[in-house]
Amino acid sequence: MDAPILDYLRKYRFKKVQLVNDSATGLRAVIAIHSTALGPATGGLRMWTYESEEAAIFDALRLARGMTYKYAAAGVNLGGGKAVIIGDPATEKSEALLRAMGRFIDQLGGEYITGEDVGTTLADMEVIYGETDHVVTLPEHCGGAGDISPATALGTIEAMRACAERVWGSPDLRGRTVALQGLGVVGSKALGLLIEAGAVVVATDIDPAKTQWAKDTYGVEIVGPESIYACNVDIFAPYALGGVINDDTLEQLQVKIVAGAANNVLAEERHGDELERRGIVYAVDYVANSGGTIYDTDRFRKGGFQPERALAKVREIYGRTHEIFAIAEREAIPCYQAADRLAEARIEALTAVKLIG
Ligand code: NAD
Repeated sequence: MDAPILDYLRKYRFKKVQLVNDSATGLRAVIAIHSTALGPATGGLRMWTYESEEAAIFDALRLARGMTYKYAAAGVNLGGGKAVIIGDPATEKSEALLRAMGRFIDQLGGEYITGEDVGTTLADMEVIYGETDHVVTLPEHCGGAGDISPATALGTIEAMRACAERVWGSPDLRGRTVALQGLGVVGSKALGLLIEAGAVVVATDIDPAKTQWAKDTYGVEIVGPESIYACNVDIFAPYALGGVINDDTLEQLQVKIVAGAANNVLAEERHGDELERRGIVYAVDYVANSGGTIYDTDRFRKGGFQPERALAKVREIYGRTHEIFAIAEREAIPCYQAADRLAEARIEALTAVKLIG
């Protein structure tokens, strides 16, 4: 019998997936739990209009597995999970629907911890928090970390500094030229940090209000969205979309480094091999952009949320990026594979510890 979902669970060693229905509120959702080897399966709650039920399930599964690797590589003791609500967040979201989701999450007894994602907000998390304690990305008045984008931006700059050290022998970004794509919540903060570090930035965004802001605030040069790849600069910094390292852009890039916040930067894995072949140093996306997650989940460490301790852990992304370079060199593999090895080695080592009687 054809069992595409169960086969996928077996292939990628998932723990379980739960389908959720509440007819009264119209809730239809998926909760995917990939691994609880390091701790409760944790990952955001996405709300999206999927074209099919299967698309929603596979999105939750793919994202949950990604979270396992993200936490493991970040040195955070949490497992990977993700939930999706099928529906349009603009028209179908209601307090009752979110509360219903909160109750289903609560019934898992802490096996899954939810958080903000595409289509959900910090305010939504506060509503869900009314039904369950198992929530991260909460506003500060609920004891959470609040806006995590500054921490995400800081982590990406730490990753970029590690790349700079690998290429030029110094992490100093002074005088380095950077093409920054995307001036959203993270990109705008990264721009501030780059200017502070003395880098020379050329930026782009599809939103003219954001490019105007960058010009007015920092006097940076602005180029059109399609021109950003061919800029004659040292570093390409993606802070907008995924898939931007592809056959087309690789032909245009003249940089030595690719480092930023965007998820799924490589259109396909083979583009990671191609970066390597061209001698372009790549800060692996899920490690470089893990600062917000690291900051956010500090509240689960002993003593509760401590901003300074959380930021110190975010800065460890610098060392972790070097660790990935070392694995890549030792095992003669590209960086994107080395990051996976780092995560897998940590899961294996800590799973073994749990077997001690
Ligand atoms: P955002 O929506 O605030 O910013 C994205 C920006 O990119 C917007 O200003 C948008 O106008 C711009 N943009 C979209 N298409 C573009 C194009 N073709 N060319 C140029 N600009 C374009 O999102 P964000 O929270 O800043 O996240 C940016 C990226 O970082 C995303 O890929 C996100 O998944 C990833 N990320 C974010 C966080 C976080 O803490 N927010 C954490 C990890 C990863």
